[in-house]
Amino acid sequence: KAMLERVAATEERVHAYITLTPELALEQAANADKMRAQGQAGPLTGVPAGVKDVLCTRGVATTCASRMLQNFTPPYSATLVRKLEAAGMVMLGKHNMDEFAMGSSTENSAFGPTSNPWDLRAVPGGSSGGSAASVAARSCFYAIGTDTGGSIRQPASHCGVVGLKPTYGRVSRLGLVAFASSLDQAGPITRSVADAATVLQVIAGHDPADSTSAPRPVPDYAAALRRGVKGLRLGVPKEYFVAGMDPQVEDAVRAAIATLEGLGAQVRPISLPHAEYSLAVYYIIAPAECSSNLARYDGVKYGLSIRPEGADLLEMYTATRSQGFGKEVIRRIMLGTYVLSAGYYDAYYNKASQVRTLLIEDFAAAFKEVDAIVTPVAPTPAFDKGQMTDDPMQMYLSDIFTLSCNLAGLPGMSLPCGFAQSGRPIGLQLMAPHFAEETLLAVGQAFQ
Ligand code: GLN
Repeated sequence: KAMLERVAATEERVHAYITLTPELALEQAANADKMRAQGQAGPLTGVPAGVKDVLCTRGVATTCASRMLQNFTPPYSATLVRKLEAAGMVMLGKHNMDEFAMGSSTENSAFGPTSNPWDLRAVPGGSSGGSAASVAARSCFYAIGTDTGGSIRQPASHCGVVGLKPTYGRVSRLGLVAFASSLDQAGPITRSVADAATVLQVIAGHDPADSTSAPRPVPDYAAALRRGVKGLRLGVPKEYFVAGMDPQVEDAVRAAIATLEGLGAQVRPISLPHAEYSLAVYYIIAPAECSSNLARYDGVKYGLSIRPEGADLLEMYTATRSQGFGKEVIRRIMLGTYVLSAGYYDAYYNKASQVRTLLIEDFAAAFKEVDAIVTPVAPTPAFDKGQMTDDPMQMYLSDIFTLSCNLAGLPGMSLPCGFAQSGRPIGLQLMAPHFAEETLLAVGQAFQ
């Protein structure tokens, strides 16, 4: 009840939620009390949370912040939602986001933007901006976001909270509405590194219903928190300190690296020579997969259906898709259709896939020398609302440091490491080898 009051007190200014589920929350809270009375309570039992509106929740609207799915209520829940429910989650509602998770500011939501609780003029980042803003505004204890090119880490950084993108395959994607299937991964956005470990413990693990989920045992993440950084080798890639980065970000990140060194880590320079192509590769591969995945929204199978009088099938598709999708989603579908079309496939999609392999090899070589990689999360602190809405290229650049991690399928984490003079938070990014989330948690906990 106290959390529902907190949500009511903050929502008018922050607008972190698309849908609130107070009745469900109270029902789940009563159930959590029962679990506790029966001695079945775990660390998340009865803890109020929010879930990004791209994750299916049975009986609760799942809109992906799109007019296309405004009236869509899924008949099943995502595997990770079911796991959280089994652990006793109290769901307060569904968090706002960029439409279909495409964007970096949560301004692409069909239901209006979210504000950054640190400065209401600023964006919270995106696409999991509702989730990060809600954790920062304390209108939930933890949130589940998704990250295709930075959408957990960048908003966590802009909102001064912790965001963990697990290894591709670590958390089931069943019930995560697909944007780019080879990149999408869900993970926790939390107040602390320890909370991230607790949530990851529940949502991680093999799901036989997701063919890309990894059949690997889940380690004890709480134990990893106690490992510290002494003797760990941390690599600082020179390609991530580029011209155009806000000097306040560079200073805060360099200071954080010095702190980690002071805690006993061995810091050394490394190189990821193909990292500079991440943006180009991502903005071919992600739209290509998006154009294919979003073909399912045709006015027949899901959500919105617009059938003008006397319209034939093609006219129905066109009317539904032109009115159902926002500008950015349409831009991505067009880009993706272009790079996959006969005659361009080899020049764009295939070439991008080849460079993606080179990038994966860069990381593999780097992880022979170091245990984790440390970089900034974003080149600037949170920008003002409206500042980049007319300039998609500028918006895309805000993910320049986060994209490579998804292209290589690696785990990554965003940690608060300081503030700009404006009072807006700055984040530090950690990346580790596949399935080495424990290393991220160990370093994060020591730093925090
Ligand atoms: N901002 C990036 C994009 O627009 C990443 C989004 C995401 O991670 N979902 O594609």
